[in-house]
Amino acid sequence: MKIPNPKKDELYFLPLGGSGEIGMNFNLYGYKGKWLIVDCGVTFGDNIHGSIDVAMPDIVSIENEKEKLCGLLLTHAHEDHIGAVHHLWPYLKCPVYATEFAAEILKRKLSEVGLEDEVEINIIDINSKLTIEKFKIEVISMTHSILEPVSLIIETEVGKIFHTGDWKIDYNPQMGKGLEKTKLIELANQNILAMVCDSTNVFETGYSGSEEDVISSLTKIINSSKNRVFVTTFASNIVRLRTISKIAITAGRRVALVGQSMWRMVDAAKQCGYLHDLPSFISEKDVGLFPKNKILIICTGSQGEPRAALSRITNGIHKDVNISEGDCIVFSSRVIPGNEISIFNLQNKLSDLGVEIIESSKDNLVHVSGHPSRNELSDMYSWVKPNTLIAVHGENRHINEHVKYAKEQQIPNALSARNGTIIQLGPGDPRYIGEVESGRLVLDGNDIISRDSEVFKLRHKMMYNGAIYVVLVMDKSFNLLHSPSIMLEGVAEVINEDDPIIKTKQFIISEIDKYKKARGFSKEYIENTITDFVKKFIRQEYSKRPIVKVEVIVNKK
Ligand SMILES: [Zn+2]
Ligand SMILES: [Zn+2]
Repeated sequence: MKIPNPKKDELYFLPLGGSGEIGMNFNLYGYKGKWLIVDCGVTFGDNIHGSIDVAMPDIVSIENEKEKLCGLLLTHAHEDHIGAVHHLWPYLKCPVYATEFAAEILKRKLSEVGLEDEVEINIIDINSKLTIEKFKIEVISMTHSILEPVSLIIETEVGKIFHTGDWKIDYNPQMGKGLEKTKLIELANQNILAMVCDSTNVFETGYSGSEEDVISSLTKIINSSKNRVFVTTFASNIVRLRTISKIAITAGRRVALVGQSMWRMVDAAKQCGYLHDLPSFISEKDVGLFPKNKILIICTGSQGEPRAALSRITNGIHKDVNISEGDCIVFSSRVIPGNEISIFNLQNKLSDLGVEIIESSKDNLVHVSGHPSRNELSDMYSWVKPNTLIAVHGENRHINEHVKYAKEQQIPNALSARNGTIIQLGPGDPRYIGEVESGRLVLDGNDIISRDSEVFKLRHKMMYNGAIYVVLVMDKSFNLLHSPSIMLEGVAEVINEDDPIIKTKQFIISEIDKYKKARGFSKEYIENTITDFVKKFIRQEYSKRPIVKVEVIVNKK
């Protein structure tokens, strides 16, 4: 089903990404014949087929509806909200609205694909109002783990929506305009029809903590170290980067940045007027010029990503920076589910090198989350007093739990959002009214293709079972002119006489005459039959199920 035409007096909500996973957020609001998009992100580590890094929402349901799309509004610059714009914009072709910092990040991405002059980017001021077609929007400053996060109040004649974006309650965020608590409390009097809300940390009790809370532990660690201090954190967390830098400078250390994304983020932040209260950062090439107790290195790679700076440093393959016994590494980050193995592998190597590893704990707080825990959710409900809660930004378990929690907290209606499911927010009680096609696209080399593509199934099979290619050169009467040519990749190890190529060859030669006697004998027949028999033979001999391709070349002479 394609998306419906939003009727004049009906207000729809439709997520195509982010409601069923943490990542690739893509939300649509439909009203008076137009759709407004909020966020357009990617997700990482969609590793089900072994070779895919980046995935994004399949937007097939809106692909031919460009004239109905009135704008794409970005709530902040995290990859799960902004990372797919440069891939998907050619299918959307609508104006983009973003804060200055998000726009800076976006411009860099667009120029990678040659779209920098194509896309109309409108800078939105924080705590201001704008109108996009039939939607009146108020942009409200929020706190999260990146510069310039915003929430949106989307006003229509049907009612007002409070779209939270990613948020937390942080009364001491260290940078930025902070949380507009007064404004949020005022919403209670504005009869908010629905609050569309972040579900990421719904299983966490209490409060997430403030950026201020990490200062004392980080200070203690940095002040007490006699050697090099490494800190790894998310490149987009400019506030954390500034906090660490300030502590280091007070402790008499200069700060080096290692990792491209770290430099990119810092560059964008400086472009927007941030970080000018810090001395310039040291380049990775100059790290070696400083005594061990006079330098602190902030690097990418907190998730154990093999190509990121920290992995390369740990494996001794970084050309400028090394880590050794007596140094310390602070993981000022969290373990993103799915990355446990790569992080632990990295930490094991660091431990073998004699490096002290420091992770966040209750007594040694070096990281706080950017998403709301349960107490923050209930505080926000009590401020905004929405009629309906729509739970988004989470896997199904987070979203379902969020709905349960909102009901416990006496919100009159609570609905779980699902990618592809349309919710009519008004008039009348909010309800599900239909479904459109949704799914995932993935970046495969330079191509954006469906995650369900046959090519992945084949690649997956080859990866786990190997492949066998057989070429048979035959005369017109289908007699073999040469011994079969067999290429066998990754199927089985050659152990003494048990050479799978020789065995397969002998098998084909001994079996081939049998098939000639069958009716309907032809090139296709022999290709299909030998394929089936080789598959069976390899299964019996080696308990493997490789891809098998047989080609018969008939010599007509
Ligand atoms: Zn975020
Ligand atoms: Zn997010």
